[in-house]
Amino acid sequence: MYDIKSMTIEELQEWTVQQGEKKFRAGQLYDWIHRKKVRSYEAMTNIPGSLLQKCRQQGELVALTKVRMQESKLDGTRKYLFACSDGNVVESVWMKYKHGNSVCISSQVGCRMGCSFCASTLDGLERNLLASEMLDQVYAIEEDTGERVSNVVVMGTGEPMDNYENLVRFLKMLTDENGLHISQRNITVSTCGIVPRMRQLAEEKLQITLALSLHAVTDEKRKKLMPIANRYCIRELMDACAYYFEQTGRRITFEYSLVNGVNDTMEDAKGLIRLAKPLHCHVNLIPVNPIKERDYVQSSRESVENFKKNLENAHVQVTVRREMGRDIDGACGQLRRRHLSEAD
Ligand code: SAH
Repeated sequence: MYDIKSMTIEELQEWTVQQGEKKFRAGQLYDWIHRKKVRSYEAMTNIPGSLLQKCRQQGELVALTKVRMQESKLDGTRKYLFACSDGNVVESVWMKYKHGNSVCISSQVGCRMGCSFCASTLDGLERNLLASEMLDQVYAIEEDTGERVSNVVVMGTGEPMDNYENLVRFLKMLTDENGLHISQRNITVSTCGIVPRMRQLAEEKLQITLALSLHAVTDEKRKKLMPIANRYCIRELMDACAYYFEQTGRRITFEYSLVNGVNDTMEDAKGLIRLAKPLHCHVNLIPVNPIKERDYVQSSRESVENFKKNLENAHVQVTVRREMGRDIDGACGQLRRRHLSEAD
């Protein structure tokens, strides 16, 4: 079976020709799917019935269905729960900023990375998402809000580098001039640090931002928070970051979730400065979002501020992530987990 929504325009051209149809039909199909974002074959009014019949026979048009949407009364952030055709559910977030609308998408159903503070990984990995299922999170949200999306972050459930082929396909299609045509510079992919895939992504020479979930500045401490640290040490991570910068000219972002008494001391700040400075990284501090399954405590406002000041004084570019949607299960994977447990 084909997944037409995951096919690039070149692949679609090849396919239509194989079907004995004119090549230009591929452009029309692509336009319906990725520009007009229709959710069924029936809506494609200028495509001959015979071709639509072939489309239907060879594969469904992937379209997620909205199961639930929660809107924050505080800041208008919307959290969506979508169902795939096999019944799996994924969550995505829509955030409104002054500079445009941003969507945070999931790359997998569940996750197998096992980071100790994260709700998405508690039940392990169910499966990878297809490129079409990643694209449709953005399409369905544009449809639902009636507004254009300008920024996409791959920071929802899942480890994008653990679903590499589909991720790169998704990135290329999302930025394709025949589709939504989102600027590569407005896309961020976040990884827990799978070194060979970071290097491979560097070689794709895309202008996207790579964010590394660092969270600790010594291997010893990092291993306690993130099992992936047993595979790749910080030295290797820094080399991969330098390589990414060299290949793409794009500065890396370090994500650093502050956990009270675990990684928020002066020593930690100094270590972070040592790592961030030579790479000219941007550091994004995230006060850890406590999940009920673990007893991590958010750093106090004061220690977040102190930590930030330390970095600023050393001329490291630093921001504290504004907490959006606190009232709507903000942290990764919480909405999906709640939905699954209610369904039991
Ligand atoms: N797997 C990818 C992307 C998904 S998570 C990655 O590891 O980067 C997006 C970011 O949120 C990561 O930096 C992750 O470590 C962080 N995160 C997950 N759960 C969190 C929590 N409860 N509080 C704060 N940050 C969290």
